[in-house]
Amino acid sequence: MSFGTKLVQAKPSSGRHHGALSTPIYQASTFHQFSLSEPGKFDYSRSGNPTREALEQTIAELEGGYAGFAFSSGMAAISSVFCLLSAGDEVLLSDDIYGGTYRAITKLFPRFGIRGKFVDTTNTEAVRAAITSATRAIFLESPSNPQMNITDIEEASRIAKQRGLLTIVDNTFMTPYLQRPLELGADIVVHSATKYIGGHSDVVGGLVVVASQEISDEIGFIQNAFGAILGPQDSWLLLRGLKTLKVRMDQHEKNARQIASWLASRSEVEAVYYPGLPEHPGHELALKQAKGFGGMISFTLGSVEQVEQFLHNLTLPALAVSLGAVESIITYPARMSHASIPEEQRKQMGVTDTLLRISVGIEDAEDVIRDFEQAFRWIDSKVSHTI
Ligand SMILES: *Cc1c(COP(=O)(O)O)cnc(C)c1O
Repeated sequence: MSFGTKLVQAKPSSGRHHGALSTPIYQASTFHQFSLSEPGKFDYSRSGNPTREALEQTIAELEGGYAGFAFSSGMAAISSVFCLLSAGDEVLLSDDIYGGTYRAITKLFPRFGIRGKFVDTTNTEAVRAAITSATRAIFLESPSNPQMNITDIEEASRIAKQRGLLTIVDNTFMTPYLQRPLELGADIVVHSATKYIGGHSDVVGGLVVVASQEISDEIGFIQNAFGAILGPQDSWLLLRGLKTLKVRMDQHEKNARQIASWLASRSEVEAVYYPGLPEHPGHELALKQAKGFGGMISFTLGSVEQVEQFLHNLTLPALAVSLGAVESIITYPARMSHASIPEEQRKQMGVTDTLLRISVGIEDAEDVIRDFEQAFRWIDSKVSHTI
């Protein structure tokens, strides 16, 4: 069965729910125990809920994992995975990691003796050199955010395995439709399901998929003990989102390719970061390990003033944080998604003051281009005016 068909037809193995094609929303916190000697499968919705279970089984099947877990946000999922570590442990992370992950591992987890160390994960030698006796895991984003750097997931997982480390991949930008890290050797996949999996800017959620029963037992314990679970309504929204993932991703990518090439041809744009462009340093690797390049593009303009004028004159994309929705969203990372990162570290990550990031929606790409064009025209006149 093709993956696109699987997305639409995925049937969670448990529960027939009277044959309902859409898994019902079990808006219940607790479940009647009909007999003391034979308790039912579900007893309390933190420990398990039928709607959440349907989502967890579906994402596990799609990522090719042993088991899936749904959390109240991407950060709840990531923090719960970090709870696999103990005081004294260290995790290596891609050096241009998502801002929230950076905040959790540099400001929250050090309180419990768990530390992050940042490394350029696109450089396997650097990864090897950074491993110490305290290292327990490697945490990757590929493509990374917002530079769109590509890390060789198979190679990183191989190094990790040799040294007895867990490989954790944040697969938010790709989704299981375009990239399946567990098939490349990773142990754990995390998602901000808020983004492409939900897809409609209407739900916050996180997912974890694990490769083995051993890790599944531990994550299951953490999910129940820490308690950052996803509610039944939101689980249902994610199940619904998954059904249209293929058509959305195909359109996101088609538009992104067109918009990235157009941006690369414009004199106002200094650099474009999109793995789908042949000149992107990670292009070949992205082709090898993923089925597509996704819908995220970063680009830089000439000055902060130009960024401000451009954003002021754009009318179609929403100026907002977040990504992966049907509508195009433009972000100014230096002042929005990455504002919590100290300036020096931010610039090292490539998040300069002239960098913009667009999450390309599923509109007609021509309309987005036309809007960019009129906003650029304003910059041109402004520049010539000041000269
Ligand atoms: C948004 C995002 C997160 C955090 O997810 P939330 O659902 O906002 O908590 C983690 N990783 C990446 C790559 C993201 O884009």
